[in-house]
Amino acid sequence: MPQSRKYLIAGNWKMNKTASDGVDLINGIINEVGDQNEVGVAVCPPYTALESAAEVLSNVNNIQLGAQNMHFEPEGAYTGEISATMLRTLYVNFVILGHSERREYFSECDDLVNRKVLAALESNLKPILCVGETLEQREDGDTLSVVSKQVDGGLKDVAADKADQVVIAYEPVWAIGTGKTATPEMAQEVHASIRKILVDRFDETIAQKIRIIYGGSMKPANADELLAQKDIDGGLIGGASLEAKSFGKLVASA
Ligand code: PGA
Repeated sequence: MPQSRKYLIAGNWKMNKTASDGVDLINGIINEVGDQNEVGVAVCPPYTALESAAEVLSNVNNIQLGAQNMHFEPEGAYTGEISATMLRTLYVNFVILGHSERREYFSECDDLVNRKVLAALESNLKPILCVGETLEQREDGDTLSVVSKQVDGGLKDVAADKADQVVIAYEPVWAIGTGKTATPEMAQEVHASIRKILVDRFDETIAQKIRIIYGGSMKPANADELLAQKDIDGGLIGGASLEAKSFGKLVASA
């Protein structure tokens, strides 16, 4: 990975951990990660654990906080929703957008994800834009076209001077929570094609600054090989982020 990018290891806790369990996990992670600053580290707890997480992290400058979703409007009559401004007041830096679970169970489409990406950037939140194909799409040979549609759709109208704030997470849907991982070669192929889309959309310099991280059953046993690939700039970690030791090992692998 070239010097223009810093690895990012981000934990996506999904709908796991109460506020107090989250505090315990973060304390464990602080212990594992130590004071290293080579690798960017982020934890993305559920909304209800963000405030207590922010408190624990207030004196820690090498672990950042992320949310798992947000609404694109700044405020208003949107029962059950949370805005970018609300996240910023909790010292949130990242927000996961367009995760495949949201696309599948909550019908999020590229257009909606794009509105969220733009709103996040507007509020100085770094979007982690998730893209990835289903097993059926891979078997039909549609992986690259599906991913390119999601990348282009998610990044519509993103200004060049904000593009390096975006992180793209390539997460093959068939690899999420299944124990099946894309081989390093399969992942690299898609990451390289995403990089190419970014070159076409912005330019080479900007594309070299944007982090493209991999997600889908990444764990200490398979991380080294994945992270050694030229265009894999880190990981979005689900299951293995729920335990401080395994998450710490992933940070150490990067
Ligand atoms: P997993 O989840 O590591 O449990 O496969 C990754 C994700 O969904 O972000």
